[in-house]
This record gives sequence, C-alpha cells and structure tokens, in this order.
Amino acid sequence: MTGDAGNRKTERPAVCTDEDTAAADRKYMREALRQAGKAYALGEVPIGCVVVDNATGRIVGRGYNRRNTDKTTVSHAEITAIKKASKRLGDWRLEGCTIYITLEPCPMCAGAIVQARIDRCVYAAPSDKAGCAGTVLNLLRQPGFNHMVEITYGVSEDESKALLQRFFKELRVTLKREKE
Ligand SMILES: [Zn+2]
Repeated sequence: MTGDAGNRKTERPAVCTDEDTAAADRKYMREALRQAGKAYALGEVPIGCVVVDNATGRIVGRGYNRRNTDKTTVSHAEITAIKKASKRLGDWRLEGCTIYITLEPCPMCAGAIVQARIDRCVYAAPSDKAGCAGTVLNLLRQPGFNHMVEITYGVSEDESKALLQRFFKELRVTLKREKE
C-alpha cells in the first residue's frame, strides 16, 4: 500500500505506521471510494472524500466531484465535504479531523485543508497533474504557513486508480464514438 516514492519533486512522508490506524484508514477510504462511485454514476471524474472527527470516529462530512453537474470548479469532493463538516460541527476550524480523499488534492482543496486546520490528510492515488500534497507541490506542509497537515498516502490506491482508469477509458470510447 505504499505509493511510489521515487521521482518525486518534494520529499514525501512515510505511509501509515501502526496497524489500527492502517485498518481505520482503509475503512474510511472505502467510504470515500463509495462517494467517488456517486461521481462516476453522474459521469463525473470519480473522486470522493470524507471528513472524520477523530474524537468520535464519526464521518462528519461527505463529498464527491460534481464539477460538471454544478458547472463550477469549486464543486470538488473536498470542498463539499469540508463545508458539510463545518456545518455539522458548527465551526470553520476542523482541528481534530482527518480528511480522506481518493485522489491527491489540487491546489484549491489543499488550500482549504490548510485553512480549515485539518490535522491529517489521507489520500489514495497521487495526481501527477495537480497534486499538492507532495507530487507537484506540497501545500500541506509548506514552511511558513501557520498550519501543517500530516499526510498519509497510498491507502486503497489500486481501487482508486482502477475506478479513475475505468472512467477515462469509457470517456475515450464515448468521445471516439461521438467523432464517428
Ligand atoms: Zn480540488
């Protein structure tokens, strides 16, 4: 369950260490993958997210990508999940929370994670094009910012990648058919 640590532009932290945490991470990532499935069903790039309150172990926010459906770039899974978690907890600060995402966060979402002061970010697959948790940039651990986020990556990476690959394969077929 380790991501490929080679060829990275920034230093990446180790994958989860203790077994209980690893099991919990897989459990919550399954729910994030279920959310990604909702995006998939809408014909959206399948990305899902959940926010967990560490004190209770409860999921306090869920979200999935709805960018095309809502016709706005801010409808990323993470933004929706963060909004819901803040509403539920009655606070814009999400200290003591962990965010689980099926794909490494983009600059906008990484920014929101830092701004919300989320303790920890767990993601499944890296994003070579927009990843801001260590792949392109690491906004979650930027020296000088007033908050740093702990990062775990590679949890259920194969499942997330398989879903994304299926989506893009089908999209290519659809686009090809439309051309014909
Ligand atoms: Zn995003």
